[in-house]
Amino acid sequence: LISVRGVDKLFGDFQALKGIDLDIHRGEVVALIGASGSGKSTLCRCINRLETITRGEIRIDGELLPEEGKDLARLRSEVGMVFQSFNLFPHLRAVENVTLGPMKVRGVPKAQARAEAMDLLARVGLQGKEMNLPAQLSGGQQQRVAIARALAMHPKALLFDEPTSALDPEVIKEVLDVMTELAEQGMTMLVVTHEMGFARHVCDRVVFMDAGEIVEASEPEAFFTNPGSQRAKDFLGKIL
Ligand code: ATP
Ligand code: MG
Repeated sequence: LISVRGVDKLFGDFQALKGIDLDIHRGEVVALIGASGSGKSTLCRCINRLETITRGEIRIDGELLPEEGKDLARLRSEVGMVFQSFNLFPHLRAVENVTLGPMKVRGVPKAQARAEAMDLLARVGLQGKEMNLPAQLSGGQQQRVAIARALAMHPKALLFDEPTSALDPEVIKEVLDVMTELAEQGMTMLVVTHEMGFARHVCDRVVFMDAGEIVEASEPEAFFTNPGSQRAKDFLGKIL
């Protein structure tokens, strides 16, 4: 569903991504892990075309990511992104944050967008909080609004960039539970995370990056019990 081929990304003369090849199949849940600065966010941002790539190609469902224009807006709406910092509109209520994209980008009528948003907010456990402003929600609740907002676009895949890193420990689980449910329902997901339990028990594959390269991509149990590379061993030694 997502195909990344020979992708390089340079910022000036600094190379943040080096010859990235990655395929994410329909329904697959992939954990992207690696040390700070290894290029995880940059890769996500390139897949969603928030950054341009320097070399190589990225396809979504067989379609080449265009440089700009209408096709880009459509393809981007097909790959939702959830950020560490939620990025909700602070002046909009939870339900309005969820309806905005479908109304503006997909042209869904207001009443229908609202009905669907109420369903999605219930699905992420936020019934009764629909009219709250982001400031009136906990971090975990805000992140669940952000997930509902991404789902409202009917994405083919979701990218998560450290969705729980800004959260207090006691609310991390409620966000991981929603993500686990999505995974079980067959959503295609790429998840940058430091939650090794999630990577190990929910994800189908672990992709380990270091210094802009994919060093290893393996089945989670194998990766955690017997990493194939010294760099992965060193990384796991530091965090586990
Ligand atoms: P973290 O775990 O800390 O989030 P990361 O793996 O997501 O790290 P990236 O944010 O992808 O790392 O950054 C990869 C490298 O690219 C870093 O060395 C960073 O300094 C550099 N970089 C990222 N964005 C830019 C930019 N806009 N301009 C210049 N360099 C950048
Ligand atoms: Mg990052």
